[in-house]
Amino acid sequence: MQFYRCKCGKARFWGSGEVPADCEGCDECGTTLTQHPEDHRTPIPHDWMTLYHQSTRLPYQVCRRCHTRKNSEQEVRVDGLLLVPHDDQLRNNTWCLSPLPGGRLCVMTRCTNGHLGQLDHTIAANGVVSPSVVCQRDGCGFHEFIVLEGWAEVVTAAGMEGLAGRPPFGSDAR
Ligand SMILES: [Zn+2]
Ligand SMILES: [Zn+2]
Ligand SMILES: [Zn+2]
Repeated sequence: MQFYRCKCGKARFWGSGEVPADCEGCDECGTTLTQHPEDHRTPIPHDWMTLYHQSTRLPYQVCRRCHTRKNSEQEVRVDGLLLVPHDDQLRNNTWCLSPLPGGRLCVMTRCTNGHLGQLDHTIAANGVVSPSVVCQRDGCGFHEFIVLEGWAEVVTAAGMEGLAGRPPFGSDAR
């Protein structure tokens, strides 16, 4: 049994025969997993290929070398709801507030396949979005019940009155 680790120690790997790929690294310190402290390098880019889920036919990307799945670490479900983290850069499977003409704000999301959309849904104070969210891009197939992580904090900071969409945004009241 061989032990490999990144520089900071967060990413660890025990291998009997298999060796961590050159594209596998720590998301914290950004170094490869090695046996010796002097050997750490910056991981090379993953070699993505597109595969399709057998049941849903939805595409996903996986690395040929290390079998890491793109975004898989972000696709967390709680009680059947997809957790959508807040992200000002609006990367895949995240949400953020975006200004509209006239100074109001709307809720933008990017589906797990990378398509932008504006939510005109009802959003409860705990971030649960109803009804379910369907990506409008042809052929995408993203259809999830979602919860916006950090909703209460972000909206409180931005001021709920300024939000556009189906009133009353940010509350359970109808
Ligand atoms: Zn590390
Ligand atoms: Zn890889
Ligand atoms: Zn989509």
